[in-house]
Formats: sequence, structure tokens, C-alpha cells
Amino acid sequence: MLQMDNISKVYRTETVATHALRDFNLHVQSGEFVSVTGPSGAGKTTFLNIAGLLEQFDSGRYMLDGISVSGLSDSARSKLRNEKIGFIFQGFNLIPDLNIYDNVDVPLRYRGFGRKERQRRIDKALEQVGLAARQKHLPSQLSGGQQQRAAIARALAGEPAFLLADEPTGNLDSIMARQVMELLEQINSQGTTIIMVTHDPDLARRAQRNIQIVDGEVADFHGFNATAAAV
Ligand code: ADP
Ligand code: ADP
Repeated sequence: MLQMDNISKVYRTETVATHALRDFNLHVQSGEFVSVTGPSGAGKTTFLNIAGLLEQFDSGRYMLDGISVSGLSDSARSKLRNEKIGFIFQGFNLIPDLNIYDNVDVPLRYRGFGRKERQRRIDKALEQVGLAARQKHLPSQLSGGQQQRAAIARALAGEPAFLLADEPTGNLDSIMARQVMELLEQINSQGTTIIMVTHDPDLARRAQRNIQIVDGEVADFHGFNATAAAV
């Protein structure tokens, strides 16, 4: 379970202070699939980066599976992130000169898993995303949808409890976007909690729950509002 209570985050430059999140409150139960929508600059990426322990926050309380994040040292935070969180991004972020197998292997090597365990995790993840036959291909030899599936395999190989996705279909045509969404739904049905930022109202609506972030806060509304999500 992910619990954020009164989280605030301010970005300061020499001249301006931007309140990216203000008194932000959100609880996500284990096993949920939550979509996040809202206008550009509203704080969606900031929320996801804090949720994924990539960024610090200024005040408030964030509990991830019962662990208070603010008290952690840098190394404890990295360890928690590696163990609990998988990320996927709009731009896939694959390493261009490594084949798909080796791309999935990168974070596993970083975490120090042995050869057999890495191989087990990579084979399982590539199988799950339907890319077992493409493991020797370079990213550039795959379609956008396949590249995103490879990036999903890389996240899954970490066996994360939480999968955080920032516009995962933003670079895909609607058919490939739907395939990626179906894959995410399948992953969610096997127990992984998913939080997905999207501008696509159709995909947002397919999640179990949609939250809107407006001006750094969770907007108060009931039910799904396609017009607001499309902003
Ligand atoms: P979106 O999440 O809407 O796709 P981005 O996250 O790329 O877009 O950026 C959202 C806003 O945050 C933009 O106005 C961008 O200029 C600003 N922004 C993002 N990163 C930085 C940064 N490192 N420094 C200053 N502003 C940034
Ligand atoms: P969204 O993802 O909803 O587009 P962001 O979380 O990227 O919004 O940005 C929220 C606000 O914080 C925006 O006003 C943006 O310009 C600002 N911001 C984001 N990242 C930075 C940064 N690194 N430095 C300064 N301002 C930032």
C-alpha cells in the first residue's frame, strides 16, 4: 500500500518557487490500477517521481508498504526503490546498442543477482510480454510497441510490487497503445499495483480508478470525467 499524506514539493530557482505538489493526499491499495490525468504542469510527473523514490519531498508523510520514506538514508531509499518499484516511461529508455535480453539484464546486474537468477527473471519477463523470440534484437529493430513491451519486461524482471508508468503509450499509435494497456491489465491482474499517468481518456477510463491532479492537488470529483482528462 502507498500512502501519501499532505505531501508538498517546491522547486526553487533563483527567481521562482514552484509549488509542484501542495498538501497532496493519495492512498493506493495493493493490487489497484490507478490512472492519473490532469493538465500539463499540474504535478503528475512530480507525483510519480516522488512515489517512485526518485525525488525527495519537502514535507508531509509518505509510507510505502508500511515504511516511512522520509526517514531513509539515500542507500536505504535506493534499496527500497530497487526492491519495490518498476518504472516505464513514454520514451522507453532502452539502451540502443544492447539487445533486448541485455537491456532487461542491466538492472539485475546492477542489483547483483547471480547468473542463473538473472536468466530466470529475464526469460520469465520476456515470455510474459511476448518477446521471447526477439531477445537478440536491438531496440531499433523493433516496433515502438515492442520496444515498450521490452521496457515493461525490464521493469517486471525486478519483480516489483508497484509499477509506475509515465505516459507509457504517449509515443504509440492507438493499436499499439491498446496492446500495451492490455499487457498492463494482465500484469495488474497478477497482483502488481499500477499507477499510470496518461493523457488518453480512453485508457484512463479503463483503469479501476482515475484521479485528476490539478495545481498540485488531487482534484475532488466523483466518477470519470472524460472532458477533464482530455485537457
Ligand atoms: P509532461 O509531464 O506534461 O509531459 P514534462 O514533465 O516534460 O511534461 O514537463 C512539465 C513541465 O515541467 C514543463 O513546463 C517543463 O518545462 C517543466 N519542467 C520539467 N522538468 C524541468 C526542469 N528540470 N526544470 C524546469 N522545469 C522543468
Ligand atoms: P506534469 O507532469 O503534470 O506536467 P510536472 O510534475 O512535470 O507536471 O511539473 C509540475 C510543476 O513543477 C510545473 O510547474 C513545472 O514547471 C515544475 N517543475 C517540474 N520539475 C521541475 C524542476 N526540476 N525544476 C523546476 N520546476 C519544475
